Amino acid sequence: MTNLMPAVFVGHGNPMNALSENNFTRGWAAIAQSVPRPKTILSVSAHYCIPFSMVTSNPDPPTIHDFSGFPEELYHVKYSAPGSIALARRVKELLKPDLVRFDESWGLDHGTWSVLKHMFPDADIPVVQLSIDETRSAIFHYEMGKRLMPLREEGVLILGSGNIVHNLAAYDWKNRDRHPFEWAMRFEEFVRQMLIQRDHQPLINYEQFGNDAMMAVPTPDHFLPFLYVLGLHRHMEKISFPVQGIDGGSVSMLAVSVG
Ligand code: ZN
Repeated sequence: MTNLMPAVFVGHGNPMNALSENNFTRGWAAIAQSVPRPKTILSVSAHYCIPFSMVTSNPDPPTIHDFSGFPEELYHVKYSAPGSIALARRVKELLKPDLVRFDESWGLDHGTWSVLKHMFPDADIPVVQLSIDETRSAIFHYEMGKRLMPLREEGVLILGSGNIVHNLAAYDWKNRDRHPFEWAMRFEEFVRQMLIQRDHQPLINYEQFGNDAMMAVPTPDHFLPFLYVLGLHRHMEKISFPVQGIDGGSVSMLAVSVG
């Protein structure tokens, strides 16, 4: 049991974190120091949300700058980690009978590289991305996470990258340090409490948390990567929150490490 790789969810937030050094990015670097060195990394990013399941199979995945309106220097960031066809094959195998197709065209989106750039700046660990099938329900994604459990015994770091609270319409771009909205704090606290109590079901059924859930998770894309990490949590395993804070009032930067 002790040699199981932890699984980690990170709140990636503003893409500019890729170029910044702040409490969030220092927290990501510290997470990397706290886990055994991974053989490979499987990232489930909010920004690879498409109507089917795919896994990246490009041996040399491009750095994708999937945003607009940011400073020029952000478009020049490269994260040149290799891909891993062996890991892509293994993921495809583990997720059978669901069909997961190889994707040669996608590479690493900013949900992945803006975080890995701080965690593993040398970019020398192969990285594969698994898409989030946006046509599927929350429970499907939780179960997908569970089926990836053997990877934790095989030295693979599974990284979910999204945000537990992600409301860009309410985000204060001018004052990122502003006091968080009450609904953002309540929803984040609900998630934290359910995790501590090892009660997964309310988290899968997060929409039942009512108005706060509607405000915190207006679209599911940034929340679903968390359900993969939740599925990877074995019942009595340790849970920690290595990064905390709510950015711009409406984006939770909470990171969750299990195992
Ligand atoms: Zn994002």
